[in-house]
Amino acid sequence: MLVAPVGIIGAGPAGVSAAVQLKRYKINSVLFEKRKIGGLIENAHRIENTMLFSNGISGREFVKILEEYARKYDLNVIYEEAKKIKAGERITIETENGEYEFDYFIVATGTRPRTLPFPEVKYHITEIEKCDKILIIGGGDIAFDYALSASEKCKDVTLIYRSTIKALPVLVDEVMAKGIKIVRGEVEKIENGVAYTSAGIFEFDEVLAGIGRIPNVEIVEGIADSRIFVIGDAKNGIYRQSSLAIADGIRTAMKIWRVIKYGDTE
Ligand SMILES: Cc1cc2nc3c(=O)[nH]c(=O)nc-3n(C[C@H](O)[C@H](O)[C@H](O)COP(=O)(O)OP(=O)(O)OC[C@H]3O[C@@H](n4cnc5c(N)ncnc54)[C@H](O)[C@@H]3O)c2cc1C
Repeated sequence: MLVAPVGIIGAGPAGVSAAVQLKRYKINSVLFEKRKIGGLIENAHRIENTMLFSNGISGREFVKILEEYARKYDLNVIYEEAKKIKAGERITIETENGEYEFDYFIVATGTRPRTLPFPEVKYHITEIEKCDKILIIGGGDIAFDYALSASEKCKDVTLIYRSTIKALPVLVDEVMAKGIKIVRGEVEKIENGVAYTSAGIFEFDEVLAGIGRIPNVEIVEGIADSRIFVIGDAKNGIYRQSSLAIADGIRTAMKIWRVIKYGDTE
């Protein structure tokens, strides 16, 4: 059953941006979202690298804008997980509740965390409300950003990184200015609220890792079809930023419009 010309998986910045730009061309789309509108950005402490918010904006506030945007443009969001894509005469999407057909398809599925083999570890700061002692693992932007958020939720914050600090220098400065402990060491084992590391033993009531992310692209593996577009963090490798994801969404909507209107082949 054809429900709209364009189907989109993922209602994060990339998917919402594509759906809104399509709507502006009067092209309807259906967004499949397995969780809620907003995507990963909800975890950001403060987004300061977009000139539209010159004073910065929190991840949660940013999500509210995306929700508002989706409402304003009356986007059609189906809260189901897309399980499979098939490319035939049309593009077919399979969810738990059935199959949907589209002429074009956008995969804006983002990423999932790289994980450690210790069940106590959490990977998203949104999973933590309040705590006494938190250990944050990682040396990149996400770990340092988590440390800033954690300093507002937890009394005692320690960040442990293994080899080098790769985070944005301004984030490192902010973390240092807050007096957050930064330790170099490798986590060897985590058990019952204790982390055993090469830099010593740390007790915690929460442990959170930001040690990299893996693109959610399995759904399109082995499918090469010019009607399917992979965009945003799912495609952008190490260049994972909301502005880039939003730009991808707009560009892809423009491409689809040009294909429909002018038969562009690029
Ligand atoms: C701590 C932290 C701080 C950050 N700070 C900044 C910052 O300051 N500035 C900045 O620009 N960026 C920042 N980012 C990066 C930003 O969050 C991402 O670049 C952006 O969210 C990517 O958007 P996206 O739409 O491509 O993917 P995502 O936001 O990951 O959205 C993907 C969506 O797809 C859904 N989905 C996935 N698979 C399926 C499926 N099979 N079926 C249905 N739904 C599915 C997910 O539930 C999710 O809602 C930060 C990220 C983190 C973690």
